Amino acid sequence: MNMGGFYLPNQSVEAEHMASSLTSTDFEILGISTKHRNEKYKRWSIDQIMMSTAYIMAKGSHDSDTQHGAVIVDENNHIVSSGFNGFLKGSADDILPNARLGGHKYKFMVHAERNACDQATRADLSNCRIFVTGVPCNDCMTTIINRGIRIVTYGDVGHVQGEGFWEMHKYLINAHNVSVTKYSGQIINVDNAVLISI
Ligand SMILES: [Zn+2]
Repeated sequence: MNMGGFYLPNQSVEAEHMASSLTSTDFEILGISTKHRNEKYKRWSIDQIMMSTAYIMAKGSHDSDTQHGAVIVDENNHIVSSGFNGFLKGSADDILPNARLGGHKYKFMVHAERNACDQATRADLSNCRIFVTGVPCNDCMTTIINRGIRIVTYGDVGHVQGEGFWEMHKYLINAHNVSVTKYSGQIINVDNAVLISI
């Protein structure tokens, strides 16, 4: 039964379909004025929120040289996992080498994307997207692909890219139909943010 644009609960699929076409008149029937809006208020976009969150996650990194963060969101834009580059779970975080010198840290460090995939509470990450602070290394890309993620958005934090990196990168994303996009837009300025006590 159509009630001036509104639908009964058992017609929820149709109602969902119709939601975007509701007009002010539909609400006026219920006595709700749509004039009481602050149009100056601007919401952040999902991409802004998630990419900013990835940069905040990076602040938890154990690595003193390069800090990366990653956030995985599902088809409803809900966060299903997150991670940063850090030591293996249960490591001696305060003792292990966290600097590039000597190369010892690499034996114990897990990248942000892999941590985020490993810690996800759902096994199948198909239809999920991952936001990463930098372009994933090819090792992480294999994990991302294997878990079913086909949309990757990355930020401007660099990492060491060895010879043949981009060739392999292109092969992986083309062969598995992965969309990889450099983020372009605003994010929160994490480095200048001030921590306050509340
Ligand atoms: Zn990686």
